[in-house]
Amino acid sequence: MIIYEQTQLNTYNTFGVAGTAKQLIIIESATDVPELLDRTNPDIANFFVLGCGSNVLFVDNFDGRLLHIKIPGITIIEDSKDDVVLNVGAGVLWNDLVNYCVDQNWYGIENLALIPGTVGAAPVQNIGAYGTELSDVFTSLEAWDLSAGKSENFDKKQSRFEYRSSIFKSHNKHLITSINIRLSKHHSLNTSYGAIETVLAEKGIMNPTLADVRDSVVTIRQSKLPDPNKIGNAGSFFKNPILETRFSEELRKKHPKLPFYPAEDGKVKISAAWLIDQCGWKGKRIGNCGVYEKHALILVNYGGATGRDIYNLSKNIQSSVLDKFCVEILPEVNIIKG
Ligand SMILES: Cc1cc2nc3c(=O)[nH]c(=O)nc-3n(C[C@H](O)[C@H](O)[C@H](O)COP(=O)(O)OP(=O)(O)OC[C@H]3O[C@@H](n4cnc5c(N)ncnc54)[C@H](O)[C@@H]3O)c2cc1C
Repeated sequence: MIIYEQTQLNTYNTFGVAGTAKQLIIIESATDVPELLDRTNPDIANFFVLGCGSNVLFVDNFDGRLLHIKIPGITIIEDSKDDVVLNVGAGVLWNDLVNYCVDQNWYGIENLALIPGTVGAAPVQNIGAYGTELSDVFTSLEAWDLSAGKSENFDKKQSRFEYRSSIFKSHNKHLITSINIRLSKHHSLNTSYGAIETVLAEKGIMNPTLADVRDSVVTIRQSKLPDPNKIGNAGSFFKNPILETRFSEELRKKHPKLPFYPAEDGKVKISAAWLIDQCGWKGKRIGNCGVYEKHALILVNYGGATGRDIYNLSKNIQSSVLDKFCVEILPEVNIIKG
């Protein structure tokens, strides 16, 4: 465990906003956590667990302890002719894990290629892309409940995964130290989502391999998402709203072009990007921040924007969507104040 006082935040969030954290604690092993709790108990109220900061917005300076997770390791814990179960340290980079698994010919997470961030953050919002979610391969995880000061194991049911959510996102008191995932050794690819098939066809690939699918996802993502190393962003800032069927039908009568998808419990998920675009925000710049010109869900820092500038922009977008469509769009990004 390494402890830094008054640390600059700009390299710890992909928005690249400036600010300071009162204390930054690097957690390099699961055994650091009980040691930390012994030292700081009972002052745990002001902890925030941080991976790569690719899904957070620091609105102000952070007047507490940031626990930056760097726990390494990928271990095979079950191996059969059909599948393999891996235990992965929370600090492993998600995309490194994807590439490792593709190299081993293990199927299941190739559609989640190039999602920034750590393995430990993946269950928090049940990361998803191109028809795959973490919950599809997840079996269990180890976490410390920082308020109770004890280590716990969560299986899939206990993790309560939903669209961009889980028990860990809503409670915000767990520090995940490792996760277990089950991957298949049998050829099973999902190319039906988004433009994967189009990209494969453009490349003249008829019978794609695991690596072909991963590479197609990378090609698509690189063509439409801003690279945080070049322009500060945290991916989709808002979640797609999930509406009761009756309200969504009324809305679709008024706005026949509104994209929608079936969601859980007979509800309907509608496109937040479409709503934001219709309010005229796509490509709009306000001072040093704005809405990305290729994707209305992504807020960007052109350089020099503060966390509060981006937060205010997000509030204005939410208000105009509410005024025009009577629909509340909620942030996917974790907003951290104080
Ligand atoms: C360009 C871009 C594209 C993106 N595309 C996608 C996408 O396609 N799909 C998608 O789902 N997401 C996407 N994201 C969002 C982001 O990559 C994911 O949410 C990722 O899982 C965040 O990982 P992180 O390590 O950066 O987490 P952080 O941003 O550091 O933290 C995110 C949340 O997880 C919590 N957390 C982090 N680590 C732990 C831990 N070990 N234990 C407990 N809690 C923890 C934090 O407290 C915080 O609440 C994108 C982001 C960017 C910048």
